[in-house]
Amino acid sequence: MTFSPRSNPEPTDPAKRGRKSAAAEADTSGEQIKTRGRKSLPLIPLREAVLFPQALAPLSVGRESSLTALEEATKRGRHILVAAQREPSQDEIAAGDVYEWGTLAEIEGVRRVMGSAQLVLRGLSRVRLDRFVKESPYLEVEYSEVPDETEPGLNLDALVASLRETFEAYVMAGAPIPQEAAQAVLRAEDPGVLADLVAAAPDLTVAQKQHLLETPHVDERLRFLVVEMARQKEVLGLKSKIQSEVEGTFGQAQKEQILREQMKAIRKELGEPEEGGELEELREKIETSGMPEKVLEKAKREMNRLEGMPNISPEHGMLQSYLDWLVSVPWKDPEPDPKKPVETWDTKRAAAILDQDHYGLDKVKERIVEYMAVRERVAAVAKEGSDEKGSKRPARSPILCLVGPPGVGKTSLGKSIARALGREVVRISLGGIRDEAEIRGHRRTYIGALPGRIIQGIRQAGTRNPVFMLDEIDKVGADFRGDPASALLEVLDPEQNREFSDHYLEVPYDLSQVLFITTANIADTIHPALLDRMEVIRIPGYTEEEKLHIAQRFLVPRQMEEHAITDKHLKLSDATVRRIVREYTHEAGVRNLEREIANIARKVPRRLSEGETAKWAPKPADLDAILGPPRFDFGLAETEDQVGAVTGVAVSEYGGDVMTVEAIVVPGKGDFTLTGQLGKVMEESARAAWSYARAHAASYDVARNRIEDNSVHIHVPAGAIPKDGPSAGVTMTTAIVSALTGRAVRKDVAMTGEVTLRGRVLPIGGLKEKMLAAHRAGIKTFIAPRKNKKDLADVPQEVLSEVKVILVDHVEEVLAAALMPRLAPAGVATISA
Ligand code: ADP
Repeated sequence: MTFSPRSNPEPTDPAKRGRKSAAAEADTSGEQIKTRGRKSLPLIPLREAVLFPQALAPLSVGRESSLTALEEATKRGRHILVAAQREPSQDEIAAGDVYEWGTLAEIEGVRRVMGSAQLVLRGLSRVRLDRFVKESPYLEVEYSEVPDETEPGLNLDALVASLRETFEAYVMAGAPIPQEAAQAVLRAEDPGVLADLVAAAPDLTVAQKQHLLETPHVDERLRFLVVEMARQKEVLGLKSKIQSEVEGTFGQAQKEQILREQMKAIRKELGEPEEGGELEELREKIETSGMPEKVLEKAKREMNRLEGMPNISPEHGMLQSYLDWLVSVPWKDPEPDPKKPVETWDTKRAAAILDQDHYGLDKVKERIVEYMAVRERVAAVAKEGSDEKGSKRPARSPILCLVGPPGVGKTSLGKSIARALGREVVRISLGGIRDEAEIRGHRRTYIGALPGRIIQGIRQAGTRNPVFMLDEIDKVGADFRGDPASALLEVLDPEQNREFSDHYLEVPYDLSQVLFITTANIADTIHPALLDRMEVIRIPGYTEEEKLHIAQRFLVPRQMEEHAITDKHLKLSDATVRRIVREYTHEAGVRNLEREIANIARKVPRRLSEGETAKWAPKPADLDAILGPPRFDFGLAETEDQVGAVTGVAVSEYGGDVMTVEAIVVPGKGDFTLTGQLGKVMEESARAAWSYARAHAASYDVARNRIEDNSVHIHVPAGAIPKDGPSAGVTMTTAIVSALTGRAVRKDVAMTGEVTLRGRVLPIGGLKEKMLAAHRAGIKTFIAPRKNKKDLADVPQEVLSEVKVILVDHVEEVLAAALMPRLAPAGVATISA
């Protein structure tokens, strides 16, 4: 807050008023509470300000206790006490937190605005705060007024004249003082009043002002001010001199540098703490960061603001961390690293790298290589185009999206692509993100604000062109805090991401050189707008043989290396690995397999340290001792042919899996019940199956009363809830018919397919995943819709040679293949599965 002597000098021109009248006024007001014969008044603590007698000051009051003090004071009259806080940032003030000297003031005006008040105060006299009578709900203080001490004489006259002169010179040198304030000073007759009016000058520090307030001796105040004003005048003179010199001779950069030096010198003179190296360093980083022109301008502007800000202010910290962020994101194109391969897409080399890092996945690798070649080509053509025509819209090639269950190598393929391109790679997971601010950051005004994950990832990469993997893009949500998917769309769209806006950064950031690769477990739940922008490559999972190869070629060597052992110390035979695959893991990928191999490798260093140096080759049977009892049964989902129990296959985000659908007949009224955690689609599919079975009951020799007097209960176990609901149609129909007829279902048959009310079998998705799962489970016959025939081309030969595939058009064909011939007459066997 700034103080200025009253702008309208009449009729209470402070220049004309003597000190005594002010004191007398307060004395006679009669509004103080008298305790033990002493006076007390409410007090408002001031942050970073001192009010002098004779000065007029606007003051805004926001603290609860200060508002209460104001209310109390206005109730009693017009007088109030103010005193400066020792610690400007402190909110709760008690005795001892303000200086012992303050000012008795008159309230000249009050304006209340929603929860705060604007006052105009006029200083009356200096006071000593003697005793705090009350600290809550407001401060009430006993005080005594301290009159000026003057010794009239030549000395005083000389000091007065001298101060007038220096003050005038100070104003002439360009001091920021309003004209009428300056005139009031020059008109002041009373030496004490003169001193106090000058003391309100803006260039003095709070400490200096407080010192002057605590000095009743007028001579002393005048002397202090003469020296200080002379110095201030010198500083001003020097400043403008340097400035004009600089303007004449130097360029802008040098000029700024010199002004900064000058500011430092002035700070030092004034005894203010030097901000020093840190800010200097920050400024240098801004200069060398390679920011585009507009960003640089903004950074410099903010930097100037930062430098002019007291470092105790809370905004100082916020501004500094903002600038720290701004300089830490990469703005320049990376310098070519002689050790790294040049960043061009060499198809052969890339294919070799992908092969080096991954077993199998031939089609996937091929598609990746093609995708990258197309991308490079499009980019090259666009570049040529832009050279010719000046500017051209950026090429729009889709974003690669690798879809598959966990552990099939999506992340590691992304890393290989980065390796082939010689680029850095960063990964962020989008799983569970519901707030747009996670992508775009929070605005700077928000406490604890940070940039969003994209900018954080870029900073982590340290370059402008990393391979940026966005994992779990299928698990992005949306709620009232905005839709992260639309922010992602902007990130991924080459037409928009040139100027990606992060709320925190505030300046556009160019993401066009980033190679984004997304990954997902299933494609179905990816936001359609995002899916539309992506080229989906599916990695369905591995067969047992493939897992065996991956383990022997990649996982075992890697784990040995990680545990600092070699093949001299450990050998895992194919048989051992196969048992791990079958009985210790149950997955489409190889993540748990790798974990179990790590569990074995971990035991080796200990054996070595215990003196067992011979090569360790655990046999399959040893695994129980090493890894504990097997976790999964290997083999068929069902061990016997059973009535009402059918093996279906489903695809979830963990890959394909087999599940048993059960149906039993219980006494009832010809209706049907469905249990298990089923989605809507599954429920409808069950209803259709039930209707079909009822409609055709006669053709299976099921008596009418068997249906009418009973009820069928279908159960789909939890944990096997397929995402592609309708594909369980054939499975449920088979289960119902089996339960009604009492004909058992072959245990080694698995099936998939949607059924219409008339029994037609419709195609399904994820055939390859499903067949892999069935193969894994030891199924020998796989029933699938004929319309899925083309998908068989993707199924590994190893699987096709061991599983017989029956392609069907109608559910009757399914029943014929899956149900055993009738053993017991219908109606006798009521089965519990
Ligand atoms: P995802 O990202 O799909 O969950 P990861 O990339 O994390 O899977 O793969 C898990 C582990 O399996 C990694 O160590 C990876 O190198 C390995 N891996 C997966 N597929 C293959 C493969 N075809 N060849 C070699 N290693 C593989």
